[in-house]
Amino acid sequence: MPNYDVDLFVIGGGSGGVRAARIAAQHGARVMLAEEYRLGGTCVIRGCVPKKLLVYASRFHGEFEDAAGFGWRVGHATFDWPTLIANKDKEIARLEAVYGKLLDNSGVKVAKRRATIADAHTVQIENGERVRAAYILIATGGTPSYGNEIPGLEHAISSNQAFHLEELPRRIVIQGGGYIAVEFAGIFAGLGSHVTLVYRGENILRGFDDDVRTHLRADMETHGIRVITGRTVAAIENLGAHFSARLSDGNRLTADKVMFATGRVPHVKKLGLAEVGVALAKNGGVAVDEYSRTNVASIYAVGDVTNRINLTPVAIREGHAFADTIFGGKPTKVDHTNVPTAVFSEPEVGVVGLTEAQARAELQQTDIYRSMFRPLKATLSGRDTTVLLKLVVDGLTDRVVGCHMVGEGAAEIAQLAAVAIKMGSTKADFDATMALHPTTSEELVTMRTRSASYVRAAAE
Ligand SMILES: Cc1cc2nc3c(=O)[nH]c(=O)nc-3n(C[C@H](O)[C@H](O)[C@H](O)COP(=O)(O)OP(=O)(O)OC[C@H]3O[C@@H](n4cnc5c(N)ncnc54)[C@H](O)[C@@H]3O)c2cc1C
Repeated sequence: MPNYDVDLFVIGGGSGGVRAARIAAQHGARVMLAEEYRLGGTCVIRGCVPKKLLVYASRFHGEFEDAAGFGWRVGHATFDWPTLIANKDKEIARLEAVYGKLLDNSGVKVAKRRATIADAHTVQIENGERVRAAYILIATGGTPSYGNEIPGLEHAISSNQAFHLEELPRRIVIQGGGYIAVEFAGIFAGLGSHVTLVYRGENILRGFDDDVRTHLRADMETHGIRVITGRTVAAIENLGAHFSARLSDGNRLTADKVMFATGRVPHVKKLGLAEVGVALAKNGGVAVDEYSRTNVASIYAVGDVTNRINLTPVAIREGHAFADTIFGGKPTKVDHTNVPTAVFSEPEVGVVGLTEAQARAELQQTDIYRSMFRPLKATLSGRDTTVLLKLVVDGLTDRVVGCHMVGEGAAEIAQLAAVAIKMGSTKADFDATMALHPTTSEELVTMRTRSASYVRAAAE
């Protein structure tokens, strides 16, 4: 590709962009990447990684409480938010440097600048440099969306700011019912804040299995998180020492912080997409085919900016597949089915495959196996919690098509259940697997009795 400065220009140094750049370079491509903020992107800098560190911090609270039932006398425990944030920031800075090194070692040239698309083969870097590229990859991710304009919206913080608060809010109102809202509710509650979650829908975690939604909500409420559904924050008033959040029903909540976790939108603005003719999909993401190619032949897009499944491992796979397709001589599609996912709430949620509602809409016969029980650990600790385990089975083929869990270790379990489901395991395979005792997940292979079975009416 002699007429170009580089073979590939990647815009965005997050999960998808970095993987694509590195693999393309390994395939021998001359690669340049622009990142306007910090290398590592959302996941490393203000997403999965810092969030999980805060989740770990928040869980000590419950562990200290539980310890008493096992004979431990833990002294008066205190928590220091600035120490947590400083230690978290140190780790994030370390990871950011690792990302820089990985790119360096792969021979990828990095511009720590914003970049936009000038034409189908030209990228404009903020410093004035223009780079001609055979291919351009858009990997600009997503950004928090605050929803509708309301009075006082400027006082609300998003997850981006939540990672950098100077002090732990004593009272926080979180608007949103998705995984980020629910996770931050658990984090702040675990660290000692009074948390109120406000969500406009009828229950949290839309899109998840209904049993999971009900179970998690009940557990969160039992453990002190106030969940208000069917309402929204209609205005935020700054009262100096604190804020007053007026709800759509007229009620008011007093808080030291008001956080909006009302979704994320693809980062497509002011990128030059309209000018160069790159089409957007109905959901606002860059429209791509199964090889992540846009309608402009030299421009591809991967990760959250395409708004397919907005998770780090998916962005990484898409970036890798793109590089293999274009520079590795190995056309590769990404399989977006049976992607496991977790909500690092308290208690944790881990799921893979179809929900009961999806299965009942898609399959001729759906069998449900459900188990709810008090985990062994809770017997001595006295913690008021139950585990939910649920298998969704195709009644005609016996294939397990969904696995849903709420309880300690759910995310780790969902990862392995995903292997079994991806392999097409049947309920009989699960039953034939020896239980590992005493564990929570042994219930997955010991649930013998169907909780329910649904046959779809012929006309549906
Ligand atoms: C609070 C939170 C928690 C999350 N938790 C999880 C989790 O537990 N598990 C999970 O799998 N996923 C999680 N995610 C989602 C995950 O972070 C994203 O799916 C993932 O980061 C997407 O990768 P990406 O490469 O598409 O985009 P990003 O990682 O967002 O990277 C895009 C990069 O592009 C840069 N950029 C944007 N525009 C330009 C431009 N014009 N020029 C130069 N650079 C630009 C941005 O600064 C950014 O660094 C979480 C997200 C959030 C917000």
